[in-house]
Amino acid sequence: MKRMFVLTLALGLSFQSQAQIATATPTKAEMTKIQTKTQPRVIILATGGTIAGAGESATKAAYKAGQVPIDALLNAVPEMHQLAKIEGEQVANIGSQDMNIETWLKLSKRINQIFDNNEADAVVVTHGTDTLEETAYFLSLTIRSNKPVVLVGAMRPSTAMSQDGNRNLLDAVMVASAPQSKNIGTVVVMNELVFAARDVTKTNTTSTATFQSRNFGPLGLIYDGKVNYYYQSTHQPTKKFNVDKLDKLPQVDIVYGYADASPKAIECMIADGAKGLVYAGLGNGNFNAPVGAALEKAAKSGIAVVRSARAGSGRVTLNNEVNDAAMGFAVADDLNPQKARVLLMLSLTGTNDIKVIQDIFFKY
Ligand code: ASP
Repeated sequence: MKRMFVLTLALGLSFQSQAQIATATPTKAEMTKIQTKTQPRVIILATGGTIAGAGESATKAAYKAGQVPIDALLNAVPEMHQLAKIEGEQVANIGSQDMNIETWLKLSKRINQIFDNNEADAVVVTHGTDTLEETAYFLSLTIRSNKPVVLVGAMRPSTAMSQDGNRNLLDAVMVASAPQSKNIGTVVVMNELVFAARDVTKTNTTSTATFQSRNFGPLGLIYDGKVNYYYQSTHQPTKKFNVDKLDKLPQVDIVYGYADASPKAIECMIADGAKGLVYAGLGNGNFNAPVGAALEKAAKSGIAVVRSARAGSGRVTLNNEVNDAAMGFAVADDLNPQKARVLLMLSLTGTNDIKVIQDIFFKY
């Protein structure tokens, strides 16, 4: 019995020293009182994905994302209730290939409300992995508080042998409630690593080690139920975007670069009402002559054009191989095309000035 108390305390009050824990022998009622008083409050917002996915058997790969409801997720990992006082809310239950701006706005507004009303000390968002990086970046740009917002997913469905979701969820709650995460803002926790929302990307279609920050590496490492942080990005938004009154965002489309590309896709996007274009360019954001001409025409007609790259890592540099100043373009710096689209949509809620937009891309 005594051993059980010691173990529970060690888990529940991980920020107390081992010496304190070893001498404490509270009654069960005292235990509950201590935990309620000292445990951080974490709200889990569930959106679906493979972490809530179910398949027909433990060994077959086929499954359907977004099947398991939040209550089942909460019960699946009893250990996380030792770390925090947890409540759950179902925001959506979809595969993240179906993630959309409406749900981004709903999530962002709810998280701002949670922190404004002091409903929790941290938020965990369970999410499919396909677009997790976009949601994470969107939240990092729109959540006013620096309190932890931890996005987490899984590569194997909850019914699979060696499923990764339960471990990832426990790690996410641990990171969210760790004292050293107090001002960490929006991060992604997967596969025992903590990544900055801005830098992380999905790099592999099926591997559990899919999430990486190719340019800068993870912020922190998780081991033995603890997180250690090593880095913090100097790219922090000076001002968060306020989406409280918005129910949609300006249309921004992504144009993919390839050998012998035609400008037809660009013309279609403009005809469809795009207010901004992100070009996923060749190498350092390069294009062939017809695509370059179409992008320049778009930029000169008032559409915000941002050059990014399809290469997967590195920066797109201003006014080097391409004369951005003359053509009216901005560059995405080290943001990949899907992240650049998020930042451009949000930037366009406040300005059409490409110089201001460039400044935002260099700082945020
Ligand atoms: N297609 C799934 C999703 O993004 C994949 C996953 O969650 O790993 O929802």
